[in-house]
Amino acid sequence: MRVYDAPSPNQDDRPAGAAVDTIVLHYTGMLSAQAALDRLRDPGARVSSHYVVEEDGKIWRLVPEGRRAWHAGVSFWRGRTGLNDFSVGIEIVNPGHEHGYRDFPVLQMAAVCDLCLDILARHPVPAGNVVAHSDIAPNRKEDPGERFDWAGLAQEGVGLWPFDVPDAGTGDAVRDAASLRDVRAALADIGYRVAPEGPLDPALSTVLRAFQRHWRPEAVTGQADAGTLLRLLSVARLTTR
Ligand SMILES: [Zn+2]
Repeated sequence: MRVYDAPSPNQDDRPAGAAVDTIVLHYTGMLSAQAALDRLRDPGARVSSHYVVEEDGKIWRLVPEGRRAWHAGVSFWRGRTGLNDFSVGIEIVNPGHEHGYRDFPVLQMAAVCDLCLDILARHPVPAGNVVAHSDIAPNRKEDPGERFDWAGLAQEGVGLWPFDVPDAGTGDAVRDAASLRDVRAALADIGYRVAPEGPLDPALSTVLRAFQRHWRPEAVTGQADAGTLLRLLSVARLTTR
């Protein structure tokens, strides 16, 4: 795996004692790779990532892993906020939902996979800590989105995927209080910030949509349908075992 250097000034020290234990995956959401690289290296933009992966699989390093890159913003996962402190951020070139969202090419996915495996060999990152930007900031972000091949990554040993779970279809969405409590508990076990009680309100729908973009990409509805519920409980079980 070859990595090209394109340093960004948008970095600082990790807090004392903060070790890398999380990988956050993004898409660039810009019209071209060059536009994204320019922005991630522009001191005025105050954003960056450790790596950028182009559609042909070329990997750029903008910030050394020992330093903090500025990619996550306001974020939460498994009880912690400010994910920049202990994560490596990877920006994956794709125009995103705003500019013509498209499939991630095979070469690009292979490069992302190699890069993640490389990072995993250097840092103890639990499978449940390989996350989407949309997982850790569901109110603001939808990247890398439902076209990203999380199952393919997990097959290679990167991240969590409930492989032997049958597709339960969409079916009727659950709305009763007891089931919604289970939904909320499973989401919280996986790592999302969600209140323990309440109806299927917009806040819960937003988190469900984030879960679906990652683990139920064929139906991003914000509804707790049968298939979503099954995936949800399966992923929660994998996370907590
Ligand atoms: Zn992002």
